[in-house]
Amino acid sequence: MKTIGIIGGMSWESTAVYYRLLNEGARARLGGQHSAKILLWSADFAEVEALQASGDWDAATALMVDVAKRLEGAGADVVLIATNTMHIAAEAVAGALAVPFLHIADATGDVLRAQGLTKPLLLGTRYTMEMDFYKGRLAEKFGLDVQIPGEGAREEINRIIYDELCQGEIRESSRARMLDIIASSTEADSVILGCTEIGLLIDQSHTSLPVFDTTEVHALAVLEWALG
Ligand code: GLU
Repeated sequence: MKTIGIIGGMSWESTAVYYRLLNEGARARLGGQHSAKILLWSADFAEVEALQASGDWDAATALMVDVAKRLEGAGADVVLIATNTMHIAAEAVAGALAVPFLHIADATGDVLRAQGLTKPLLLGTRYTMEMDFYKGRLAEKFGLDVQIPGEGAREEINRIIYDELCQGEIRESSRARMLDIIASSTEADSVILGCTEIGLLIDQSHTSLPVFDTTEVHALAVLEWALG
């Protein structure tokens, strides 16, 4: 089994899910006492969030690159960023590493294409929904026609992510609002939970549209690689 290097803590609420999924997956595949080989670097999310809010993407990218190299130096065979938003730094990180980098949008695009889905509704932070690093990649590499909610809804989703989910708060009212937003997207053929914490609030049981939780998709893809 290869060693998985995780740049995590953004927020730790979802990194904990990655950790569990990777270990459960290793047990399911290998049995007995087996568990995943993981090197985890976990951020103080307040520091990362401050760089995001001030738009200092250069400093945020430099941090991701520095951590990725440390994980590689410590023996990681593959590196992943355990959040969608900080994939803003994906190209810089991949370029700085000799070992593979597993992009969360590529793992997601692969799964959607395999199921013949082409018009996903993307839910995530305002950076992920509005900037091009994520939607653009899904469009260019996978030919997906990515839908995003309207401006007011984007603001609400962003607030729910940062003020609630990243702080460990799961509210029924926010789940209802998120489901309203999904229901009002009449064109989408699927939903991408493009923020690693949204899976704490919504899952496939809540909607009839196919739901893709990027935390799950990403964790399974890297596990497959590590065991392959
Ligand atoms: N984990 C979230 C994501 O997947 C949001 C927190 C962050 O800004 O990294 O985008």
